[in-house]
Amino acid sequence: MYIKGAVEGAANTELGSRVFVYEVVGLRQSEETDNTNYPIRQSGSVFIRVPYNRMNQEMRRITRLGGKIVSIQPVNLLQELNGQAPNSNATSGENASSEANGKATPVAEQQPKSKDNKGKTMTQAKAKKDVHADVPVNIYRPNAPYIGKVISNEPLVKEGGIGLVQHIKFDISGGDLRYIEGQSIGIIPPGVDKNGKPEKLRLYSIASTRHGDDVDDKTVSLCVRQLEYKHPESGETVYGVCSTHLCHIKPGDDVKITGPVGKEMLLPADTDANVIMMATGTGIAPMRAYLWRMFKDNEKAVNPEYQFKGFSWLIFGIPTSPNILYKEELEEMQQQYPDNFRLTYAISREQKNAQGGRMYIQDRVAEHADELWQLIKNEKTHTYICGLRGMEDGIDAALSAAAAKEGVTWSDYQKEIKKAGRWHVETY
Ligand code: FAD
Repeated sequence: MYIKGAVEGAANTELGSRVFVYEVVGLRQSEETDNTNYPIRQSGSVFIRVPYNRMNQEMRRITRLGGKIVSIQPVNLLQELNGQAPNSNATSGENASSEANGKATPVAEQQPKSKDNKGKTMTQAKAKKDVHADVPVNIYRPNAPYIGKVISNEPLVKEGGIGLVQHIKFDISGGDLRYIEGQSIGIIPPGVDKNGKPEKLRLYSIASTRHGDDVDDKTVSLCVRQLEYKHPESGETVYGVCSTHLCHIKPGDDVKITGPVGKEMLLPADTDANVIMMATGTGIAPMRAYLWRMFKDNEKAVNPEYQFKGFSWLIFGIPTSPNILYKEELEEMQQQYPDNFRLTYAISREQKNAQGGRMYIQDRVAEHADELWQLIKNEKTHTYICGLRGMEDGIDAALSAAAAKEGVTWSDYQKEIKKAGRWHVETY
């Protein structure tokens, strides 16, 4: 259960009082639908307001009545679409705002339906790419990198946590380096590799917005984990070259920066978008940039063109509570913008999945799969996955199960939303 203003998965607390609107088709007129006053329209679509804590119950009831849920939207988003004032007294079975003013753009109408190869109706993602004009790329190349200066290098893992992860801020005010949220920069570590050649660049996702952590357009920040592993043959502990260099770099030190690069992880320009973020470990870096852009930068009025009114949902996988990178920032944003930002943790070594095993990100996704699937079908939804390579498989499995309930083959659907520029993955 999800309670507005609180954080899911934190300290095993289950939370919730958000209201969602189900769009349902195929409801049979019956004694029960008459009794519950479900408004069945000529088009066949019915909009039902459902508090979060009754979602499953209502889903079962709709299925029993022969209905099929074709979309689920948080009520504030629908109200934005309808230009309507919020109604905090909404309950399940009530007529939705869209019904009331007759101006709704039902999701089913936005999403053309097609038949899959089994002849079942599936929702088809419209092939429409966001245009990212003016995205800066490769302003600085490896043969002539920008020389930035370290401003700060702060630990992100608290006492008792695992490994070393640092938030590092660089001064870039002396050059021409520009970037936007979702891009990466290259760092060239000093020294030579085992062949005696100068070290090559390593890529790092940018963790700050285009305006930087100080909102003065003069910095770029990274979230870097020191690579540490046991050598498979010798058993010796090996530390990564560049990540070790960065994690121990000192304020005032020079750093060679290249880029920026990447257009895969950019945010949609649409301020009404739904943004689902699934991150593990340092995969939080681009998500932090998105969230700051959506919420924090606006407090400084630096983004008149981007006043986020949509719904964002971060599902964050980490091993232990002290490993919740940027915990205070995330929870503060969640408290401040409970209608626009939902935060769910999967803390693998502390929380249990439904089978009693460790709670990995894919287990949380599985837990919320029906809800996520309904959101993903919405044309306004973009999904971002970042972090450990291999994390996609479990997520795909969870979403496959939810899509299959509606006769949709997830892998086919995923291809469509990738083509439409709504499915974004960066794993390493
Ligand atoms: P290196 O010295 O280059 O060592 C890496 C090598 O070690 C590997 O190539 C492999 O041969 C070996 N190795 C690694 N693990 C093992 C193992 N378990 N067993 C055996 N051998 C192993 N990292 C971050 O911390 N934060 C980010 O935001 C981030 N963003 C990225 C974005 C992109 C687009 C990409 C591609 C990567 C990103 N990375 C990020 C990873 C980063 O680029 C580096 O790969 C990482 O920091 C390791 O570099 P290194 O120089 O420390 O390790």
